[in-house]
Amino acid sequence: MILKRILLCAAITVLALIGVSTAIPAQQPAAAYDLLIKHGLVYDGSLAPPSKMDVAVSGGRIVKVAKSIPGTAGRVIEADGLIVTPGFIDLHTHVDDGMYFPENRACLNYLTQGVTTVVVGQCGSSAWPIFEKAEDLIGTWTKEGIGPNAAVLVGHGTVRNIVLGMENRDPTPDELEKMKALVKEAMDQGASGLSTGLIYLPGSYAKTPEVIELAKVVAPYGGIYHTHIRNERNNLLKAVGEAIEISEKAGLPAHISHFKVMGKANWGLVKDACDVIEAARSRGLTITADQYPYRFTNGYPYSRLIPRATWIGREAADRLTAGDVTKIFDHLGDGELIELYKKVTPFYPLSPRQVEFLNGLPRKRLVDFVASDLFELSDFQGPQNMRERRLFLKRLADPDEGRKIRQEVRAAIDNALGPENYVVGISVEKNLEGKTLKEVAALKGKSVEDAAIELELMDAKCIPFQMCEPDIEYIMKKDWVGTGSDGTAPSYGIGLTHIRSYTTFLRKIKNYVLDKPVISMSHAVRSQTSWPAQIMKWDDRGWIKEGCKADIVVLNPAALKTPSSISNSHQYSQGVDYLLVNGRLEIDQKKWNGVLAGQVLKLKKS
Ligand SMILES: [Zn+2]
Repeated sequence: MILKRILLCAAITVLALIGVSTAIPAQQPAAAYDLLIKHGLVYDGSLAPPSKMDVAVSGGRIVKVAKSIPGTAGRVIEADGLIVTPGFIDLHTHVDDGMYFPENRACLNYLTQGVTTVVVGQCGSSAWPIFEKAEDLIGTWTKEGIGPNAAVLVGHGTVRNIVLGMENRDPTPDELEKMKALVKEAMDQGASGLSTGLIYLPGSYAKTPEVIELAKVVAPYGGIYHTHIRNERNNLLKAVGEAIEISEKAGLPAHISHFKVMGKANWGLVKDACDVIEAARSRGLTITADQYPYRFTNGYPYSRLIPRATWIGREAADRLTAGDVTKIFDHLGDGELIELYKKVTPFYPLSPRQVEFLNGLPRKRLVDFVASDLFELSDFQGPQNMRERRLFLKRLADPDEGRKIRQEVRAAIDNALGPENYVVGISVEKNLEGKTLKEVAALKGKSVEDAAIELELMDAKCIPFQMCEPDIEYIMKKDWVGTGSDGTAPSYGIGLTHIRSYTTFLRKIKNYVLDKPVISMSHAVRSQTSWPAQIMKWDDRGWIKEGCKADIVVLNPAALKTPSSISNSHQYSQGVDYLLVNGRLEIDQKKWNGVLAGQVLKLKKS
């Protein structure tokens, strides 16, 4: 099209120069666009009310937004009755785990939610340098293509693990320099900032000054600090305070991931935390957050309704520690241990770089590394462990022991969330799915503790609802909060995954705008478009505005559905009729067309 226009212009110019009278029409030739979206109700990313507009796209950008755009286009999309918004930006995802595998690079579970950009490398864990360098990851994605755009963060936990392993101590000055060099390397290669997971090993071993020193490396690049804060329970305020301190002392914006508070006793604390954040913001600091709209955190491995010590007996529980697991390895050589490790890490085939890393570990650290993974796995076997199960049933049948077990189970449930806040996710008795423990007890005419024991013995998966709805709504209304799913790019249909991986963005619109108007549509759209773009310092994304990159969602609100459920999580959301990433259609008439138009968004050095 462009070439045609150039030739036409050139021809007219030549004819004019040689003085030949040309019959130039009174009207300018109609503009030609790559794509034209007509008559859609446009939410432009601001808080302004929507208006019916046409949107023209050429060369990957939005070139015109107007009441009516005449002219031809390579493709015209009739959007009458549909909503047009900027592409959604997910501030917090773990899709880089799944995207290790080429077949997951489209991130269809996100495209179908209208997501056109994801931020990965979260919670202190980046896909490099253990597995690959940042530039390897970015290079592979750029060459082979990805569904949504992606920005990558360098993970503090990953960096610490490389330099200090799983050791619980401060780095020496020399080690700190090594960590800083790794962060710098990632920033030079295109990372957008630093992430921490101060609740996970080994991130939790780091004290605040260590994080400040690493964040200082990121600041001159104009990078950002994303953090899974140290505590999301009773010490929420202190943990938020730490994020603010890091922002202030390192001189960079701090962004709090999946902002929430867990545990019934702590519900409501988010209000105080919001006050602390707002006080910091009014002092001129850039503190922001993201949120997912769910009452539960992990989709699995679910909560055990019977405490471990009650299940295997107090004595046995006191005896078995991670140290015991470590001892089992004493007779294995280093090579055998690494072979074993390969078997217990189901998520990644080990890269040569990681094997090299493991081979370089001193014996003790290698053993700890493997033992911590194995111990975690063994702890979730529960009822499937037949020996434990037989012993438990024997103790349960004993009048005294049985009474004690029931008391302990009931106390654990009451002390944690209460029977009304555990929900059956998966059960062989399908009618129990979606019901609370309290409802199951009533249905079966049993005590709460007996219902809990029965559910556990049938290996039902119960999900603790750690967060409360009023807190979710309170956070959602804040104008400094964006959306972040915390989801993954799972292999479709395999295993179980949190429904947030499939539903976050459309659920927010469906549940909190359409079904129950907690926030306005403009507020919801802004929280997942222009606001995240501003947080990430992207000035040409997140808006339906001339000159911006053409990341666009065309949504049918009447057809919006989020069928993914706890027991059947691998179900794509519905309602996105068209999705453009960098001006190219990826979802066309509700179907993915195989296009991978996403780009890796590197930080422009400031
Ligand atoms: Zn996290």
